Amino acid sequence: MKRKPMIAGNWKMHMTTKEARDLVSGILQQTKDVDPGNVDILVAPPYTALMAVSELLNGTPILLAGQNMHWEEKGAFTGEISPVMLKEVGCSHVIIGHSERRQYFGETNETVNKKLHAAFSHGLTPILCVGESLEQREANQTFTIIEEELKEGLNGLTTKQVRSMILAYEPIWAIGTGKTASPEQAEEVHAFIRKWLREQVEKEAAEEIRILYGGSVKPENIEGLMTMENIDGGLVGGASLKADSFGQIVKRGL
Ligand code: PEP
Repeated sequence: MKRKPMIAGNWKMHMTTKEARDLVSGILQQTKDVDPGNVDILVAPPYTALMAVSELLNGTPILLAGQNMHWEEKGAFTGEISPVMLKEVGCSHVIIGHSERRQYFGETNETVNKKLHAAFSHGLTPILCVGESLEQREANQTFTIIEEELKEGLNGLTTKQVRSMILAYEPIWAIGTGKTASPEQAEEVHAFIRKWLREQVEKEAAEEIRILYGGSVKPENIEGLMTMENIDGGLVGGASLKADSFGQIVKRGL
């Protein structure tokens, strides 16, 4: 089955509002000839730049995402952002469970699960990140970890919800390290995820869900990754911070 590819840029803690405006203007320029019917393009700026980026994206096919959120609508949660706030500034998507959130900010499968439920309640499409560390890979625990992240993360979601969300396989050892998983290494895990979804959720959900690969995606390696049957796009960190390289990834990934 052919799924529509998605190329998503995770800007992490980069870009002041001014820099973000320049970057998004550059991305719009670089991708102006790309048929939006062939690929979904998404950017996830830091919170402070969301509004400015949203204004520039208005009327364009480029999608906007938050990098994280709290599961409550509002309340005494200093420093947090709610799904309602993301919706208000024009986000359609939200990244949940990025490994940096898990590693540095105490994100667990349980909080990921709460956030996924909250995203759906507020009409946001979640992009759920899963992936193993180097130690876990070397100890042959890759599939166990991924299975646990899926099972606990997706707990209680309806099959319809799972079908509509996006997954990102991001081996932690490949994030920001310049070390990409080979297309075959990534495909092995993507195929495992799809098989797990087929068996544990539903055949249609497994076929329809898009699974992005993330971990040092660059213009030079996107083509090889996209030839794989179960890789439906990329979640790009470092290389999404320059309009030219992000534009190249979008175009070469087609
Ligand atoms: C990411 O932030 O999700 C990511 C994959 O980063 P990088 O492309 O820099 O490895």
